[in-house]
Amino acid sequence: MKIETKLPRVGTTIFTVMSQLAASHKAVNLGQGFPDFDGPQALRDALTEAMNSGKNQYAPSTGWPALCEQIALKCEILYGCHVNAGAEVTVTSGATEALFAAIAAIVRRDDEVIVLDPCYDCYEPAIDLNGGHTIHVGLDPTDFSVDWNRVKDAITARTRAIIVNTPHNPSGAVFSAADLDALAAITRDTNILVISDEVYEHIVFDGDEHQSVLRNAELAARSFVISSFGKTYHCTGWKVGYCVAPAALSVEFRKVHQYLTFCTFTPAQVALAEVLGKQPEHYLQLPAFYQARREFFRELLAPTRFRLLPVAGAYFQLVDYSEISDKDDFSFCEWLVAQAGVAAIPISAFYESPPADMRLVRFCFAKSDEVLRTAAQRLSSL
Ligand code: PMP
Ligand code: GLN
Repeated sequence: MKIETKLPRVGTTIFTVMSQLAASHKAVNLGQGFPDFDGPQALRDALTEAMNSGKNQYAPSTGWPALCEQIALKCEILYGCHVNAGAEVTVTSGATEALFAAIAAIVRRDDEVIVLDPCYDCYEPAIDLNGGHTIHVGLDPTDFSVDWNRVKDAITARTRAIIVNTPHNPSGAVFSAADLDALAAITRDTNILVISDEVYEHIVFDGDEHQSVLRNAELAARSFVISSFGKTYHCTGWKVGYCVAPAALSVEFRKVHQYLTFCTFTPAQVALAEVLGKQPEHYLQLPAFYQARREFFRELLAPTRFRLLPVAGAYFQLVDYSEISDKDDFSFCEWLVAQAGVAAIPISAFYESPPADMRLVRFCFAKSDEVLRTAAQRLSSL
């Protein structure tokens, strides 16, 4: 049988490729972004309890009601946005499902969707599968800020949506309130929708506040806001995320969601509902927790020949390796995993066309002290 691919430009994701290379070289894996520690004991106990007390059948398609309530409450407390738990919150199987469902719900043939490069890898294939065109606008290559005039210039009569991501993967850059104002201004009086990927919402450093689009009433009215418990509760493998969107948008989102997955793993939803409201200290302490990881890793890397870029949020450290090698970033990562025994992610994987001579790779610092120390020891020999 021959099948004509619908995704000719898609291969195996860079995260899988690098994790496999890390395993085959027995390398320290700072590539794929996931913590090497577990979430709170209370959460894992609550999951066991949920399974042992019969919470093993389908949840309501839109989400376990107590979890939807807690999500709505969190949006109200943190971002001052009133969210109707029944009509505006949908629990999904990870942020990945939510991103796909939001794109599938709104993108029609030949619609254009603006993304900001470098961007996370699951946006464009979803746009492609729905017949849309991805319009790539570059972030500033030095500090990964958005030039909103360039975004505005990319808008056409066919623009259906803009996808934004703060805190940003891979750079760790975060939006300011002025970014929200600029996004509101360029979408005002248009039918453009916003898909806001906020999976690292609870990992913002140096006392800054996360600038959720939910803080801006104008943007909240036209946005799908997507997050993931995987990042917040150190449980990326549970694949529980959610989408907050105004009722009319949620209706369309849910039409897709109910036929993609129908519902998300019930015991995890029950467990998350249990801890989210009762122990908000977990996510409130997350910035301090990851800021300490960031400091620790940066101090370890300071004596090396890598140049460290600033990190305002998320759990990734970008480094410039141009003092060590003039290989392109893919070749450098292949060399690094084989020669130094450390896996990283080449930044050009996040670009349609990366700026010439960019020599950046991404390390994930959501790792134990020992793992970061071993990695740094190996990197300091270069
Ligand atoms: N968006 C971004 C920016 C991410 O980094 C990730 C995963 N790390 C996702 C979406 C997907 O999240 P999930 O694992 O909950 O599907
Ligand atoms: N989001 C994770 C990262 O950026 C990877 C998730 C995945 O492997 N799909 O590394």
